[in-house]
Parts: sequence; structure tokens; C-alpha cells
Amino acid sequence: MLEKPAGSAAANSLTHRIARYLSESLRAVAFTGAGISTESGIPDFRSPGGIWSRYQPVLFQDFLASEKARREYWLMKKEGYRELRGAKPNAGHRALASLEAAGKLRAIITQNIDGLHQDAGSRRVLELHGTSRHCICLECSARYEPELIQDRLEAGVEVPRCDSCGGLLKSATISFGQALPVDVLSEAIDLCIKTDLILAIGSSLVVEPAASLPLQAKQNGARLVIINKTETPLDDLADLVLRDPIGASLTQVVQHLGLGLPDS
Ligand code: ZN
Repeated sequence: MLEKPAGSAAANSLTHRIARYLSESLRAVAFTGAGISTESGIPDFRSPGGIWSRYQPVLFQDFLASEKARREYWLMKKEGYRELRGAKPNAGHRALASLEAAGKLRAIITQNIDGLHQDAGSRRVLELHGTSRHCICLECSARYEPELIQDRLEAGVEVPRCDSCGGLLKSATISFGQALPVDVLSEAIDLCIKTDLILAIGSSLVVEPAASLPLQAKQNGARLVIINKTETPLDDLADLVLRDPIGASLTQVVQHLGLGLPDS
């Protein structure tokens, strides 16, 4: 299904330029943030009304140390899971999957935990902040389906524990105070150092250290394209900045390249 094209002729000429950059690039990568998933109905948890305006994020150290903190953590996760459940990838996710399949994009580095890039068909997805698609036992590393844990939470369990060892369970997302996964981060840095084009999409580029990745790419000679509805600290450095809706813009880009979108 084609999305409504983003309106103006100016926007159209910008998406033409992005398509040209992609066709001239050999090692393009995308960097994505919450903005690409808002069109799938997932609220940006940092925005007003988002989940972090209602709950204080629980620090990893507090999660480990305090039953009260763990209850808070799971209360927030229970509500957050209701927002994620059932979300489908949108045209933006599908356009990036299409670019990868066509050999125009090497990888996606994402701040998102929703798994929608993979649902859209993207294969090389580096999840800097982990994933909400499973829960993990901090003792024995057993994995649990989040749906199963959600059922327990909805049934009144406040702090779910591992069935096999009784250890603490936690979503496989990265909490504040918890180190980013070293292997993922080093692969992301390597991609950004070697890339010749980085598309920074739907990220305000302020959360560190993730946000410095597009900067590293730029400083190593890559072109930098920013598609985000609000200003970012890197706008002045960018080769192109687009404020239009992501799904419609990326749809135009893949169409300019003569590609289609994978089925939703
Ligand atoms: Zn366990």
C-alpha cells in the first residue's frame, strides 16, 4: 500500500537528493529513534504524556537493590507493554527494509526497543537499548516471552521471578545505569566510522552515547541526512535536514530509487 506523498515540491526535491545520496553510497547506514515508531502508534516515552512523564525511570542499581524499585519497574513495564502490544511496522520501517534488501543500506542502528524494524523485514538491526521482545533471568539467563510475563503482571504478580532458579526477571531492554551491550555498541561504532552516508531518522540526537554515532560518521567524512520533526544539535552539520513525516518521506525515497515497499 502506498502512503500519501509528503506534500510540497521542495520536500520532493529533498527526497530526490536523499535517493541520489543513497545511489552514490557504498556503505550507508540508518540510525533510528522513537520518531520512526510514533507513526505505528507507539508514543515517544520521553514526550509529554509519554510513560516517563508519569513514572520515574528505575535505575538498574535500584532494581537490583530494592523490592520497592522492582515493583515500580514492573508497574511501568506493564503499562508500557500495553502500548507496544499489537503495534505494526509503518511505511518508514518498510522503506528501510526495502533499502537493505536492495543492497542500499548495510544496517540499522536503533535506539528503539519495539522490534518493528525486524517485523518489517530488516535483518541487520543493532539494538543499542536492547529489546522488549523478551525478558531475561538475571541469574541464569533463561528467556521468557514478554506475553507470558505480562499475563502474570496482569494477574497480580508484582515482581515476576524465574521459574527455574527463582532469580530476578527483567525486560531485555537496557535500563538507566545499565551498560549498553558492548558488542552491539562496538559494531555500531565500527559501522559509523566506515560509513559514507548516515540517515539519522526520528531521533532528537540528544541521548548519549548513542547520539554521538551520527557525529562520528560525519567527522569521518560521511554525508549526514537528518529526518526529524524537531531540531537536533547536529542540524548545522548535516548535509540535508528534512522535517516532513518519516513514512511518507522514506516512501518517496524508495520510489525515486525504483524500489517498492515490502508488504506490511
Ligand atoms: Zn533463572
